[in-house]
Amino acid sequence: MIEKLALIGIGLIGSSIARGVRARGLARTIAISTRKKDTLAEAEALGLGDIYTLDAAEAVRNADLVILCTPVGAYEAVMDQIAPALAPGAILSDVGSVKGHVHQALKPKIPQGVHFIPGHPLAGTEHSGPAAGFAELFENRWCVLTPDADADPQAVEKLTAFWQGLGANVETMDPTHHDLVLAITSHVPHLVAYNIVGTVADLEAHTQSEVIKFSASGFRDFTRIAASDPVMWRDVFLTNRDAVLEMLGRFLEDLSVLQRAVRIGDGPALEDLFTRTRAIRRSIIEAGQETDAPDFGRHGASPKK
Ligand code: NAP
Repeated sequence: MIEKLALIGIGLIGSSIARGVRARGLARTIAISTRKKDTLAEAEALGLGDIYTLDAAEAVRNADLVILCTPVGAYEAVMDQIAPALAPGAILSDVGSVKGHVHQALKPKIPQGVHFIPGHPLAGTEHSGPAAGFAELFENRWCVLTPDADADPQAVEKLTAFWQGLGANVETMDPTHHDLVLAITSHVPHLVAYNIVGTVADLEAHTQSEVIKFSASGFRDFTRIAASDPVMWRDVFLTNRDAVLEMLGRFLEDLSVLQRAVRIGDGPALEDLFTRTRAIRRSIIEAGQETDAPDFGRHGASPKK
């Protein structure tokens, strides 16, 4: 049980935490702080917390758990505001999609006696803002914590129990390893989606309207990923550059091999790869991280005409 939880940033992830905490009674008091007045008013209208303030320092005062839920690029400025108000013994965590940068940028700013345990729930959608969240977002999803080797085990245990309370499976990892794994499972796929949708955005108007009309043949599934929040994803690529470039290099080498197979008509090579990739999807379904319903399990799979 958390006495006072402070959420700084109340978009998709922050509001999903607030809803999950409410639904499962994981904290006595939820304090919410964000940058814009309108966003705070929206959070209040949705009844996401108990205390609403534009002053992040006020939100974290006496909190035993503080979670940063803003884009990663805002962390340092937020830390400068909240550091003097953090209570000794409090846990400071976050949900940012990169971890090495978060360790480097925030560690020098952590006051004595505050337990700094960064985290990343591997769950999300392409929607943003307080209304986009839902209490079940983290159920049966992974949450990776990246504590330093000398982190207080009891604090790590408390944060682990918090995420388990939200329905997540928790794993601890080294931040550099986290960034490498996420570069290939999340960051490069987003870059590929942004690129393919960007290519269409630059096509001449006639061809573009045909692509949109016939999009269900594959393109549409990239557009969901490419609709993800521009600021959040800008910050991911600004702060996980090395791991993304490493994985992008491998991706481009493999793409060249595929390009050659297409050029020379190497059917067996194409079939072999497509068989192996299908097996990967099957193993994701078996791991409970995806449904095997057709069309990604979309409800009412046929969109409106
Ligand atoms: P979001 O829906 O866009 O919400 C971001 C929140 O941060 C909003 O409340 C926004 O409030 C606030 N904010 C933005 N800039 C700020 C600043 N400079 N100072 C203070 N508050 C600021 O984003 P999200 O999807 O919840 O993502 C939040 C974090 O979760 C990111 O670090 C992201 O890497 C991580 N994450 C996202 C996903 C995903 O799929 N979306 C998954 C896992 C982790 P205002 O309206 O007041 O500016």
